[in-house]
Order: sequence, then structure tokens, then C-alpha cells
Amino acid sequence: MWDEDPRAFGERFSLSLAEALRYRCTAEHLHEKCKGGADEERNIVAACDFCNRTRHLAKRPKDAASFAKYVQSRMKRGKWHPVRLERQRAPLR
Ligand SMILES: [Zn+2]
Repeated sequence: MWDEDPRAFGERFSLSLAEALRYRCTAEHLHEKCKGGADEERNIVAACDFCNRTRHLAKRPKDAASFAKYVQSRMKRGKWHPVRLERQRAPLR
């Protein structure tokens, strides 16, 4: 993830700017704010923009512990994100 410079991040990992923008560091609420989750440190973790926006879109969203296991299992296989993100290509703006 990047926090300040998406272009430098993109160059480092050979990503277009559009791809790099998906890896912006965001504050993810483990228990969603819209469902009563607290805006407190213990309920917030760092997550890339893609994961933050998509984690809750599944038909059966994983709870935070299950999602962490899912991510760790993908990382062990060298697959950090779902394939749809890795395969999306967009030109530099
Ligand atoms: Zn992510």
C-alpha cells in the first residue's frame, strides 16, 4: 500500500497509475460504521482501497477474523488480491 505517492508506488511495482490507486492505504472499520461499528482505534485497521471497498460486497461478507485468514491463505499462494484486480489493466492517465 502507499500513503503519499501513487506514482512512485506504481513505478516500484510496475503498475499503471490507475492500478496503483487501488492500493491507497485506507482506514478499514472491522465492524462497519453503517452497522454501528465504533470509530475507535480498536475497530480500525489499515487496508488498501480495493479491499476496503469490496470486503463487504460479497453475498456473505466474511467477518474480520475470517477475512484475515482468507488474505493470509491467498498470500501464502502468492495471490494477495482476487484475480479480477490483478488482471484489470488500465492505461496511465
Ligand atoms: Zn487490499
